[in-house]
Amino acid sequence: MEITHIEHIGIAVDSLDEAIPYYEEILGLKCYAIEEVTDQKVKTAFFKVGQTKIELLETTDPEGPIGKFISKRGQGIHHIAFASGNIEENLHEVETKGIRLIDKVPRKGAEGLDIAFLHPKSTFGVLTELCEDKKNNQQT
Ligand code: ZN
Repeated sequence: MEITHIEHIGIAVDSLDEAIPYYEEILGLKCYAIEEVTDQKVKTAFFKVGQTKIELLETTDPEGPIGKFISKRGQGIHHIAFASGNIEENLHEVETKGIRLIDKVPRKGAEGLDIAFLHPKSTFGVLTELCEDKKNNQQT
């Protein structure tokens, strides 16, 4: 696997409306997109920090993954997402190295990326997302 950069950091918040002003007014970042990912039962808000994005996640359903995360652990960093090459190959590679996968097959995340999660039990407690931008990733 060849990771090129941190694609984004996912942060669980109770409310986008409450959290966005902190990022905009205190940190001076600009929210450039808000998108609902129905598959994951979340509404997301994106900010750019260099090549990396901050992805705020608000649950649309208390039983969704972010809803459950917040009720167990409170607001905070939820996952880290690495941009790497061909996601199918990478998933296969890490699985053969004994890493537990949450997604054996990539699915669609926000911004049209193909994403897949590795299980935090295999990654020293960090929910890890691999992502590939197939539209802009011609080398694969
Ligand atoms: Zn993510």
